[in-house]
Amino acid sequence: MKNSKICPKCQSSNILRIEGRADAYGAGNNIPVGMTIFTYVKVDRYLCCECGYSEEWINKKDIPKLVKKYSPAMDEELP
Ligand SMILES: [Zn+2]
Repeated sequence: MKNSKICPKCQSSNILRIEGRADAYGAGNNIPVGMTIFTYVKVDRYLCCECGYSEEWINKKDIPKLVKKYSPAMDEELP
């Protein structure tokens, strides 16, 4: 959706881009990677106004911060 500007679910081109934010106390759309406002990674969201489908994207430069903080899904212990 970010690249095509078309909703993959309903083929609508009525897409909103909602920019990620990292306000005080972690308000806004973001992922915490530390203790302060400076260590939040912003998450941009793309929303289809026709069906409500949404997609979330993180800036590539922020990915190493997440790699440091979170563990790979494949390392997850299954119940
Ligand atoms: Zn849609």
